[in-house]
Amino acid sequence: MSFQDLPAPLQAALTGRGYAEPTPVQSAVLQPETAGRDLLVSAQTGSGKTVAYGLALAPELMGDAPRLPPAAAPLALIVAPTRELALQVKAELAWLYAPAGGRIVSCVGGMDPVAERRMLSHGAHIVVGTPGRLRDHLERGNLDPSALRAVVLDEADEMLDLGFQEELEAILEEVPEGRRTLMFSATVPRGIAALAKGYQRDALRIEATSADVSHGDIEHRALLVAPHELERAVVNLLRLEDPRIAMVFCATRAAVARLQGNLSERGFSTVALSGELSQAERNRALQNLRDGRARVCVATDVAARGIDLPDLGLVIHAEMPRDPETLLHRSGRTGRAGRKGISVLLVPHTRRRVGERLVAAAKIKATWGPAPSAEAVRARDAERLVEQALALAAEEPADDDVAVARRLLADPAIAGRGVEGLAAALVRVLRAPLPAPEEIAEIADRPPARAPREAPAAPGGADEGGVWFRMDVGRDGRADPKWLLPFLCRRGHVTRQEIGRIRVLARETQFEVAPYAAQRFAAAARRAEGEDAHIRIIPMQPVKGPARRPRR
Ligand code: AMP
Repeated sequence: MSFQDLPAPLQAALTGRGYAEPTPVQSAVLQPETAGRDLLVSAQTGSGKTVAYGLALAPELMGDAPRLPPAAAPLALIVAPTRELALQVKAELAWLYAPAGGRIVSCVGGMDPVAERRMLSHGAHIVVGTPGRLRDHLERGNLDPSALRAVVLDEADEMLDLGFQEELEAILEEVPEGRRTLMFSATVPRGIAALAKGYQRDALRIEATSADVSHGDIEHRALLVAPHELERAVVNLLRLEDPRIAMVFCATRAAVARLQGNLSERGFSTVALSGELSQAERNRALQNLRDGRARVCVATDVAARGIDLPDLGLVIHAEMPRDPETLLHRSGRTGRAGRKGISVLLVPHTRRRVGERLVAAAKIKATWGPAPSAEAVRARDAERLVEQALALAAEEPADDDVAVARRLLADPAIAGRGVEGLAAALVRVLRAPLPAPEEIAEIADRPPARAPREAPAAPGGADEGGVWFRMDVGRDGRADPKWLLPFLCRRGHVTRQEIGRIRVLARETQFEVAPYAAQRFAAAARRAEGEDAHIRIIPMQPVKGPARRPRR
């Protein structure tokens, strides 16, 4: 199926947008056998599904006419889980139906309901909205469902996850019997199957979630990081990859606020997207990303649902997603519309197993490795700075600039240093706005996913037994075991099982660390941070490189 068989105004819109070929989901919903039928489509954001249902609705909206009739009671209703997605759908359908004379009205939570009522009263061809707000307008009689010929549930699984089942059922009960119902869902769990059964007639099932479509253009990486260095890893990744737009995911609003604050402080231009923002604030945040005033968006899962920013080149999972679906949804913010993207899962080394299971369950191929070092960022900076400086030098200079340059070259202070001094000054200026890269501890190549059950043997032969360390807090301090173990784990980035025997003496405490963890422990303990940073920890014997973890 190609776009050639579509009504002329739709073809014109697609051509104007530069879309020559249908994506797989668009081809699938335009096959002749789908005409007039209910559809249950598995498709993810990024697959072109919005245009897919936009095109699929053409017969219901236009019939055989060359244009849409004058706008009156709406002909199609589209329900989406979040405000952003609904507004995005509206924008997408607006250009698609512009040449056909389409009028699209949105009804979304958080926007002014009175203005929406006014828009509805002027007539619409398509109404797009979020479940709660649409139900409100239906109940108040602002939205007349009597002429509806089609209903689309977009991201239906997400709407159920967000607890919108009741609203959806209320909406579906209101719309006329003979309408066409299209359901789009990334996955089809039991709740969706039940909803389809209850409200669709003989639906055609379409699978358009081929791996090629959903994540063909995304390079997945999984990086092992010390738990307290996640933020540093985020900094270095942003600096190394330097994408036009990056999205960084956290698990909670509080974590979003903290990370956004810390990134801004370091000089990144950031915005945050989380549930606590007003609609106006969220729109402003997205606009700042689109027009380049901000480049990093720190977000929670729900707030980032369905967001479509074609320039988004990097997704960082600063906190691991709770399940494989979330991993895929988050990653799907990048690699959109045929562009390349990178998705980086940061895995605290203490949770490597969890990370491995997550990647396996999502059925993605990830390259495992360490977080980028400060050195790597500096090396990449050097390349970019040379490129930037060369590009500047290649530009035709303005007369004003040449005049200043001549004065500079004539100045004895500059003449003494020569061209090298001037070039170095230019590099300094170009480098100044770049946030400094962070020093990151090296994580042993394959840290143990599980620690050995047996405590390390006595010290001495460090190859078999543990490596002993000493710290300057003893019985006369607060070195009781309840405080000691968590302190050592925190300070040295090891697990409880990696600490062996502990001897609390009067003024100091000696303890044993599993040999394979000793180097990591020593490095982390040296770079102490926080309130206990003053406590000195020093090895009592040479610490060798990571030995092999004992087999269990
Ligand atoms: P969606 O899956 O609806 O979120 O769409 C993802 C992106 O793909 C949007 O930016 C669309 O405008 C774009 N898109 C939709 N159809 C096509 C097409 N046939 N060719 C290229 N890009 C498309």
